[in-house]
Amino acid sequence: MKESLLSLSFSKLQDLVVSYSQPKYRAEQIFNQLHAGKSLDEMSNIPDILKSQIKKDFDDKSLEVIHCQKSKDGTQKFLYKLNDDNIVEGVLMNYKFGYTLCVSTQVGCRMKCKFCASGLDGLVRNLSSGEIISQIIVANCYLGGNLQDRKVTNIVLMGSGEPLDNFDNVLNFINIATDKHGLNYSQRNISLSTCGIVDKIYELANSGYQINLCISLHADNDQTRKQIMPIANVYQIDKLLESCRYYFKKTNRRILFEYILIDGINCSKEHALRLAKLLSNFNCIVNLINLNEVKENNFKKCSPQTVDDFARVLKSYNINVTTRRSLGNDIDGACGQLRRKFINKE
Ligand code: SAH
Repeated sequence: MKESLLSLSFSKLQDLVVSYSQPKYRAEQIFNQLHAGKSLDEMSNIPDILKSQIKKDFDDKSLEVIHCQKSKDGTQKFLYKLNDDNIVEGVLMNYKFGYTLCVSTQVGCRMKCKFCASGLDGLVRNLSSGEIISQIIVANCYLGGNLQDRKVTNIVLMGSGEPLDNFDNVLNFINIATDKHGLNYSQRNISLSTCGIVDKIYELANSGYQINLCISLHADNDQTRKQIMPIANVYQIDKLLESCRYYFKKTNRRILFEYILIDGINCSKEHALRLAKLLSNFNCIVNLINLNEVKENNFKKCSPQTVDDFARVLKSYNINVTTRRSLGNDIDGACGQLRRKFINKE
């Protein structure tokens, strides 16, 4: 498979253009149009010789959307086909302030969280930076946006895969997505969600970027966490929280802790009280998510009353709590669900 042209940062593209004995400004022309969704053939201001030189070594195509499903609440789910016929999914959520796109970073996932559909068959492969950025380009074009008026305003790395398990490509992706010659996203509008690979959280903190960090915590103690998340056998919660404090110190970005409520596992009043204690004196937000049930496992969601009660306990300890609206329930909204259904059918 040829490397995706979209995986090249602006400076790498400049180097490439210069290596073909072309003026540097061609890189700006190409980068700009590429991220607006054009292929090389559609760029009328680029000499044919340069186009064919590039095409010899690089693939300039964006991903193909092979399926799009719209929920009653306006949420849309895409299935993207990669060049090797693998499939990943993306979710587009419509908020008052604009669209948020949830993008995937891997085909499958190695983390094997018990409640999640993405990791059921393990990791297939990492996505390249180009394949990650392409999900955004395609969604922007789908919504009729352009580089001056991007319709997708926020990006969350919360689709299938563990972003910190594909660290280099994800970092390069952030570099490309925030480049002023292209999509020019503000780092504040990019969020990365991780199950908590502590070493990589330190690396991210030291990378110089200031994106939002979200931690899939889902438990208030190691024992409960180990029941649902194998990564908890590698990193204890206190070490995870230490890395989060470091991230906050370095970036000044408030951490968001995601907490899925799973019936009979982690949603009693005692869990809420212990979570409140664990996160006291931590400048953070807790995002409660009622489980999205997946047919491949037996986990059940909680009653709306349980979610409210859990939130109330945290609030009474002055913890900032938001409850995630469950969007797209009627369209297989949970991680990896739609892809599985599609693959199984085929
Ligand atoms: N690997 C990263 C990002 C992908 S998962 C992470 O673990 O954070 C994105 C979020 O969806 C995580 O918080 C994950 O725990 C959650 N999730 C996975 N399966 C879910 C389900 N069935 N219902 C609700 N949330 C789920």
